[in-house]
Amino acid sequence: MRVLGIETSCDETGLAIYDSEQGLLAHALFSQIDMHIPYGGVVPELASRDHVRKLLPLTKQVMAEANCNAEEIDAICYTAGPGLIGALMVGASTAQALAMAWGKPCLGVHHMEGHLLAPMLEEKPPEFPFVALLVSGGHTQLIDVQGIGQYEMLGESIDDAAGEAFDKAAKMMGLPYPGGPHIARFAEQGTPGKYLFPRPMTNRPGLDFSFSGLKTFTLNTVEAAKEANNGELSDQERADIALAFQDAVVDTLLIKCKRALKQAGRKTLVIAGGVSANKDLRAKLEVTLSGMGGQVFYPRNEFCTDNGAMIAYAGCQRLMAGHTNDKQIKVQPRWPLTDLPPLDLPTDKASD
Ligand code: AMP
Ligand code: ZN
Repeated sequence: MRVLGIETSCDETGLAIYDSEQGLLAHALFSQIDMHIPYGGVVPELASRDHVRKLLPLTKQVMAEANCNAEEIDAICYTAGPGLIGALMVGASTAQALAMAWGKPCLGVHHMEGHLLAPMLEEKPPEFPFVALLVSGGHTQLIDVQGIGQYEMLGESIDDAAGEAFDKAAKMMGLPYPGGPHIARFAEQGTPGKYLFPRPMTNRPGLDFSFSGLKTFTLNTVEAAKEANNGELSDQERADIALAFQDAVVDTLLIKCKRALKQAGRKTLVIAGGVSANKDLRAKLEVTLSGMGGQVFYPRNEFCTDNGAMIAYAGCQRLMAGHTNDKQIKVQPRWPLTDLPPLDLPTDKASD
């Protein structure tokens, strides 16, 4: 089965063609980051308009790259949620219009299921069951995954997501949006031990996260450092704070991952979402998992953040199991991952 995948849930227009026999045939991504930088975050209305501009040219691009025409596409999949409603609507209506014009089935895909399954596109994919840590700009979730659609939520953030915390901390330090990669770069020059930031909610049992206290701690540290330096934050201070902040987030995620693996009785960990690109997080998880006789899997860097490949892949798995939705243009800005039906449930339940 050959699937065209469309991702437009936030500030990236992602297109891809995945073939169940041949793997990923083509993918293309346009990031709107430069457009949103002056506003310090994503402006939903601008995001929707830009998806309108980019969707069809990128569709043509991936079809040319995959050397395939409309007849050779078996189905179209799009991100149906969670995400920004206007942005989702653009992807959904384009997908349904193409499906109608080409006479093909169309399926809405859960964005976080896409992230969760993204490591399946790699040469050495993980095997079920595993524990997944989904760490993105909007989510921090620990999930026990027995198979596609068999998800048990073990813990999640009760306030800010890890990526959001990176973005807000970066803003406090005068670094541009999205802050994660900038903090990671500055942290490389940081002085170890200069600051010690709290590891929130690690001293009590449970698998939930909270990053809002860490945000306040970061703000107070930035303000104090500025005050000691005539209102300016020097690059060395920025690096020291970035390192302390990153260490705190990575340690917190590490502690909770170990706890989740133990609780679920698993030895395989999958990490996905934008924050899973963090080198320090990957390195520490690799050491921890190998110490436990287990293994950690993550997507290649370009598939950590939003992309069309993960949507084409996830959609393809569900379509092959017989899932499909009707001709409605239906999106869900909020959509719990645990609401998804398991793969072997009949078609009519798949798009509820
Ligand atoms: P997503 O929501 O999955 O598209 O991921 C975007 C989020 O990932 C943003 O909050 C980024 O700041 C964050 N991010 C991207 N790269 C890194 C990194 N190397 N370290 C930490 N956070 C990152
Ligand atoms: Zn995402």
